[in-house]
Amino acid sequence: MLAKDYIELEEKYGAHNYHPLDVVIERAQGVWVYDVEGNKYLDCLAAYSAVNQGHCHPRIVNALKQQAEKVTLTSRAFRNSQLPLLYKELSELTGYEISLPMNSGAEAVETALKAARKWGYKIKGVEEQKAEIIACTNNFAGRTISIISFSTEAQYRDGFGPFTPGFKIVEYGNAKALEEAITPNTVAFLVEPIQGEGGVVVPPEGYLKACADICKKNNVLLITDEIQCGLGRSGKLFAFEYENIRPDVVIIGKALSGGCYPVSAVLSNKEILGVFKPGDHGSTFGGNPLGAAVARESLKVLIEEKLIERSFELGNYFLNELKKINSPHVKEVRGKGLFIGVELKPEAKGARRFCEALAKRGILCKETHENVIRFAPPLVITKDEIDWALKIISEVLMMN
Ligand SMILES: *Cc1c(COP(=O)(O)O)cnc(C)c1O
Repeated sequence: MLAKDYIELEEKYGAHNYHPLDVVIERAQGVWVYDVEGNKYLDCLAAYSAVNQGHCHPRIVNALKQQAEKVTLTSRAFRNSQLPLLYKELSELTGYEISLPMNSGAEAVETALKAARKWGYKIKGVEEQKAEIIACTNNFAGRTISIISFSTEAQYRDGFGPFTPGFKIVEYGNAKALEEAITPNTVAFLVEPIQGEGGVVVPPEGYLKACADICKKNNVLLITDEIQCGLGRSGKLFAFEYENIRPDVVIIGKALSGGCYPVSAVLSNKEILGVFKPGDHGSTFGGNPLGAAVARESLKVLIEEKLIERSFELGNYFLNELKKINSPHVKEVRGKGLFIGVELKPEAKGARRFCEALAKRGILCKETHENVIRFAPPLVITKDEIDWALKIISEVLMMN
């Protein structure tokens, strides 16, 4: 079968909720993916940062295989011999007392929101049904009805109402707006330390620190969504570390499984996650032994292969080299670690055509928000591979 045959099948039998580039990937290793026609591409999206450890990392694949042959799913009706070890290793790595495992990122966000509301009622003493959670403009936290209820992206909401009440929106990057929006009923502030889907938006320096202080002063939980920017992507284990803060709740997903299996988690302390009693919340697959084994190995690879340090160093290099490209189309180059956005001017006629040109030359990127090209390759990328990519990127950014 040719690429066009697969594309035809997909278009005919699948729902059209995505508009992918027409590259039909058949296999992948590290930073490289191969299509059904034998073409090779450098993956600069890394599945939205789910494959920070590189595609099909041998150690993670091996952990998956080994565990798949033992036991894959017990449900949480029974205990299994992987989850306790994941709990312990997550706690030791992050310093958070306890965690709660889920599968997709959206489920972990939902979990954090439920924890915050329950904490608000049971611990903070907010009157029943009155809890408010504050989120930011331009946020992305998933696609469930409650999560899109606080999206500011018209398309994410169009046709999906009625929405879940209890959310307020404040401008991202503006700590004063947060302070003004807080009421006695506010239980939490949910924020991405760097907005990924929003276009790799880095807030002003000091913003998160100011938000953390405001939350603390008002007894409001600070929840950071590190699903995309966390686990090494930004050059730190967590992007919030750039501001030396300690959020009350941290949400992780994506690279927690190195792209091998969906695993997400909410990290916090006993006071907050302790509001969940048996039966309050759950997931059939959440915390399953296959996912737990994969997550354990994914975290070990991240640390033992020093991928976080690598992201920091090579990210700085990549960012600075991108800034040197003197393209008439570029408005701004920004990012932290290997989490980089190149924002094009409105006159550039959209990022999509540049992504298509890059794909033709062997680099896979995806535009985010019309005008931003995101460069977020697996963290195992080498300097030589970055140099190779830079040559092509500069050619493409110079086209008419
Ligand atoms: C991807 C993402 C999510 C949602 O994760 P899914 O696994 O797609 O449900 C939530 N928050 C952020 C910041 C993300 O990038």
